[in-house]
Amino acid sequence: MSGMIYNGIFKENTDFICMTCNSPVWECNDSKYAWECLDCFNKFAYNDAIEQSPHFHPAVSIASFDGEVFSFLCCSNGNKVIFDNQISAESYLMNQGICCESLGDFYFVERVVEL
Ligand SMILES: [Zn+2]
Repeated sequence: MSGMIYNGIFKENTDFICMTCNSPVWECNDSKYAWECLDCFNKFAYNDAIEQSPHFHPAVSIASFDGEVFSFLCCSNGNKVIFDNQISAESYLMNQGICCESLGDFYFVERVVEL
């Protein structure tokens, strides 16, 4: 699954995008709304966002979670490795000997938000 880490909590991609700026929308922390956009800061009712194209594959980094913190796969320079999309991230893991069933242990992270 891909999604974002929001204040240390993983939120799954909702498959909906913002009608104003086309960014993915996220489950809103404010229960009066269904979605919120973190790019234009709008909040929406359920029907006010549109479904993502099935061809929308955002770039992701790979994280694992030990129950307390997320650790990212990093290059030798300490920067996160960014993959074009979840499919290439999964291929990378499988090339590293991770079996298909274990892919679910990893988080494919589109963005990280710390407030
Ligand atoms: Zn927006």
